[in-house]
Amino acid sequence: MRKLPLHVKIIIGLVLGIIWAFISSSLGWNQFTINWIDPFGTIFIRLLKFIAVPLVLFSIISGISGLSDVSKLGRMGFKTISIYLVTTVFAVTVGLGLVNIFKPGATIDDEQRIKNRISYELWVEETDGVKPKDNRDFLNDPQYASQVAEITNDPNREQTDSKVERTMQSAQQAKDASPLQPLVDMVPENIFGALSTNTDMLQVIFFAIFFGIVLAILPNATVGPVIDVVNGINAVFLKMVEKVMAVAPFFVFALLAGVIAKMADTPREVFEIFKGLGSYSMVVFIGLAIMIFLFYPVVASIFIKKISYKRFFNHISPAQFLAFSTSSSAATLPVTMECVEELGVPKNITSFVLPIGATINMDGTSLYQAVAVVFLAQMHMVDLTLGQQLMIVLTATLASIGTAAVPSAGLVMLIIVLQSVGLNPVWIAIIFPVDRILDMCRTVVNVTGDATVASLIANSEGELKED
Ligand code: ASP
Repeated sequence: MRKLPLHVKIIIGLVLGIIWAFISSSLGWNQFTINWIDPFGTIFIRLLKFIAVPLVLFSIISGISGLSDVSKLGRMGFKTISIYLVTTVFAVTVGLGLVNIFKPGATIDDEQRIKNRISYELWVEETDGVKPKDNRDFLNDPQYASQVAEITNDPNREQTDSKVERTMQSAQQAKDASPLQPLVDMVPENIFGALSTNTDMLQVIFFAIFFGIVLAILPNATVGPVIDVVNGINAVFLKMVEKVMAVAPFFVFALLAGVIAKMADTPREVFEIFKGLGSYSMVVFIGLAIMIFLFYPVVASIFIKKISYKRFFNHISPAQFLAFSTSSSAATLPVTMECVEELGVPKNITSFVLPIGATINMDGTSLYQAVAVVFLAQMHMVDLTLGQQLMIVLTATLASIGTAAVPSAGLVMLIIVLQSVGLNPVWIAIIFPVDRILDMCRTVVNVTGDATVASLIANSEGELKED
């Protein structure tokens, strides 16, 4: 058992967690699982999160202060952001392509879709929603009069429950801000304030880059000891990651058991949830699989000759499994950094490219947002125009940049994408039930994308090491 590689042990933990969840729900032990096992999953995420902020801070400072040529930073920054953008736009396009080919929303029976369409038309009348392009008018068609009456008189029609309401409020705040707000938000008002929350990672990155550059400019006689201290502290946090990861398989078991136990009371319920949204989930899964097993390896093998398919996955799989279990690129970041370094990318690159990637590069999230919006439109019999689909490419790209690297953040930002094409944001309630599982998978893609781009940058800088 001791000899098994870490990622194999993590898979075992993962599988045992799922098995445990099913046994415990069949035997009615869910409350026991939630009370006595799930807290260890929470402890694990907390451990990773408290390491993430100082690790990002010290590793960026340490990486940049060690650069002999600071101008390299500007070049690397430009390359990093550009490649991140290209991969995100590609991911959205894959999502849009698949959802238009498979049309998962059209698999729902027509009677239900007509009802959905009628409630959509009612909503368009009441708000500033966009009229569907086919111009059919179900509301005034005598054939559908009884359905219209039934829906109009339904007191529960498309009501937002409190959870959706709260989600919508936070998305609205993001939408109301000025276009330059993200730039303003990057600059901390108070660095201790930024360090004390887990949500202001870009501010921490901004401060660390600035601090690192100044350290690199000043003479060694003045700042040498500071650099030594930073390097020392950085080594301590890296060791902490290693220690936490040694027990990760157990924690992953607890996380998975807890997540599933909270999702539904019986295994049947889990299957029921998936049945209705199965075709939508399948399309998201296919898209994410294309990214992981085709797009990234192909890009890597075209541009980086030194990294084989097997070597890539061997090294980064612990980060992938962790992303799956935690649903958070931020919590996974310390491990992603370690894995990518083992892949041969030097520290000064991982410490710069990966924290930025964890914050702004979310290929999985943007792909899922594209699929979700079109799926929801399809199940309401609303055909989107080409202009609307292009709008989705733009907003899903921007929304994924603005998505926080924590569980379910992509769902919140989905509201903005829905609104950008004039659709009803309350629809997110429809896909709530399967969102956690999809979140787990899209986070794996987010992390894999960051790792691929870090290797591309290292390769283009001629700094990728051989195995
Ligand atoms: N959970 C995702 C992440 O942390 C974000 C999301 O799509 O919800 O990468």
